Amino acid sequence: PQALKDGKIYVVYQPQYDILSGKITSYEALVRWHDEELGQISPEELIPLAEDCGFIQSVGRFVLDEATKVAAKWHKEGKKLAVSINTSAREFMSSELSKYVLDILEENKCPPEALQIEVTERFAFQAEEEQAIVQNVQQLTKAGIHFALDDFGTGFASFRYLQSLPISKVKMDKSYIQGMITQPKTRKLVEGLVQLCHSLDLIVTAEGVETEEQLELIQTLGFDTAQGYYFNAPVREDELTALLEEQ
Ligand code: C2E
Ligand code: CA
Ligand code: CA
Repeated sequence: PQALKDGKIYVVYQPQYDILSGKITSYEALVRWHDEELGQISPEELIPLAEDCGFIQSVGRFVLDEATKVAAKWHKEGKKLAVSINTSAREFMSSELSKYVLDILEENKCPPEALQIEVTERFAFQAEEEQAIVQNVQQLTKAGIHFALDDFGTGFASFRYLQSLPISKVKMDKSYIQGMITQPKTRKLVEGLVQLCHSLDLIVTAEGVETEEQLELIQTLGFDTAQGYYFNAPVREDELTALLEEQ
């Protein structure tokens, strides 16, 4: 929590592009932690640590607050883009979560449709055990917030969770996007997954697009949106502003 006050924790944003129009449709908020002695600490280390030490709530609230302020600003300027945040199941176990999220939206004058929440299969798995998680998801969905299933395909029961949770978008994990270039079988699998998702009216996003070759293939396979270093690495808010002003 001290790190939050000291400004060592900050948020970067990575745009997601519409495949057909090439325009930004949303941007994902990713937390960053810079420690003076240890240097840059990746969220993969920070998040589990924050969960264990009980300050995941503070991190989550900080990111939500920053991200919804940015989204509100763009909405006011007429750009109806959504900001996407990542969550951990731990945060959703609190029965106060949905009220808290809606309060922040109101405080920051951010319309609910300008917020997307990304959940993982691990989250979905825990939702089957914890009624509080499902209730929070339902209340937020009712308010107009959309949910996306992150790292799609890495778990063992992706499609089961699409039935049990109100998901409107899936983000195909980068291992598939990278794997399908060299492996014809992976390509076939991805092609089928995209079709299946479309038949369920889901938006399909490609994560971790790094090369032109990958972009061409995801275009051929019918993905709706894409995100990755090929377009941009995650950037600070001022750089995001520049990207959004360009279009
Ligand atoms: P994620 O949600 O799957 O986020 C995508 C990760 O892939 C990000 O790593 C991003 O920087 C990276 N990435 C983007 N484009 C490319 C690409 O073209 N190639 C490759 N190889 N990687 C790319 P990052 O920022 O290190 O975040 C790692 C994970 O930490 C995230 O994975 C997410 O699960 C978690 N995370 C990040 N921020 C938050 C947060 O605020 N709250 C929670 N609960 N988790 C977070
Ligand atoms: Ca994510
Ligand atoms: Ca992901």
